[in-house]
Amino acid sequence: MDFELSEEQRAIQDTARAFAREEMMPFARQWDEDEYFPVDTLRQAAALGFGGIYVGADVGGSALSRLDATLIFEELAHGCVSTAAYLSIHNMVAWMIDAYGPTELRLRFLPELCSMAQFASYCLTEPDSGSDAASLKTRAVRAKAFISGAGQSDVYLVMARTGPGGPTGISCFLVENGTPGLSFGAQEKKLGWHSQPTAMVIFEQCRVPVANRIGTEGQGFKIAMSGLDGGRLNIAACSLGGAQFCLDRTVAYMKERKQFGRRLADFQALAFRVADYATGLEAARLLLRRAATAVDKRGGDATRLAAMAKRLATDTGFDIVNGCLQLHGGYGYLRDHPIERVLRDLRVHQILEGTNEIMRLIVSRYIFGT
Ligand SMILES: Cc1cc2nc3c(=O)[nH]c(=O)nc-3n(C[C@H](O)[C@H](O)[C@H](O)COP(=O)(O)OP(=O)(O)OC[C@H]3O[C@@H](n4cnc5c(N)ncnc54)[C@H](O)[C@@H]3O)c2cc1C
Repeated sequence: MDFELSEEQRAIQDTARAFAREEMMPFARQWDEDEYFPVDTLRQAAALGFGGIYVGADVGGSALSRLDATLIFEELAHGCVSTAAYLSIHNMVAWMIDAYGPTELRLRFLPELCSMAQFASYCLTEPDSGSDAASLKTRAVRAKAFISGAGQSDVYLVMARTGPGGPTGISCFLVENGTPGLSFGAQEKKLGWHSQPTAMVIFEQCRVPVANRIGTEGQGFKIAMSGLDGGRLNIAACSLGGAQFCLDRTVAYMKERKQFGRRLADFQALAFRVADYATGLEAARLLLRRAATAVDKRGGDATRLAAMAKRLATDTGFDIVNGCLQLHGGYGYLRDHPIERVLRDLRVHQILEGTNEIMRLIVSRYIFGT
């Protein structure tokens, strides 16, 4: 068992870190304030190979591993959690097309998705079907709720019902923006994730050719879930990056800020809290890398480990950021400091790509064999 990153992985990490510091961090506050979707920055990230991180090289992808992807997303989240998280969803869709799409669709869509000339969205959730995704109903006139990138994305990967109830009656299709019958709801007003749009995707007699199907008829739910294994790793990595960013700033602040004639760092109760935060992050990162390796191998334990890692990293990450805010006192609550933004951005990671209750459901089913 080797816990060291390879030289190549360190180089990937350095590239993502430099990009996050130079191209994202200085602008993240403004993107959040203005609810601005930074299309050009995303395309710059794609020029570094981050638009199709684990997509095949023959269609413009970087053909890296899931573990490599977690390194990239953790670093990018230091710069802007919300933008990194959208990129994670885009990568999930690109991989699903690469892994399950017929050659014709791979060649048609993936080069433009990898360069981010085109953007992608993942459409599973419906107004009446969230955690219970297998009960979805989308047929002729239906809507998908809470879709990240909706309205801005060019390509929508849609899980739709083509057969009887339950997971085996669901198929997966690519729907292009501009298809007659496809429209979008109003932009949702959200607590965080302001640098990316979220809206309903509405289908009214929207006809999609069978040539746009990913995988076989009835395979859609399986494809959706296997995409989420990887998506959960990336969202977990975004939580770790956001939390590490806040922790680093908090350590610097505690060395400077004095009360009662002492630095905050010299109050042992506070220093011990920071020690616990650093330990929590390290533990969550280790589990995440273990899970990423399992997803790479596509072994039987991939879903269980990805669920464990997503649950632990997103809960730990949020708690640490909340603690860092507390250690900043009143200043942590102000928009002048980035901690409140990261807190708002990280909160949703406990809800989407399967809520953390659903992560516990997955893990407990493995434990009890139910
Ligand atoms: C900002 C944002 C962006 C999103 N982006 C996307 C996207 O791009 N694509 C997409 O498809 N979806 C997206 N979602 C949807 C997200 O995945 C769902 O909100 C999530 O899966 C939960 O579904 P729900 O909101 O319907 O909650 P519900 O399923 O109604 O759950 C309500 C509560 O009940 C709990 N619960 C439900 N069932 C159980 C159970 N069996 N046991 C224990 N607890 C349970 C849940 O954990 C939750 O706490 C996004 C959501 C948000 C907020």
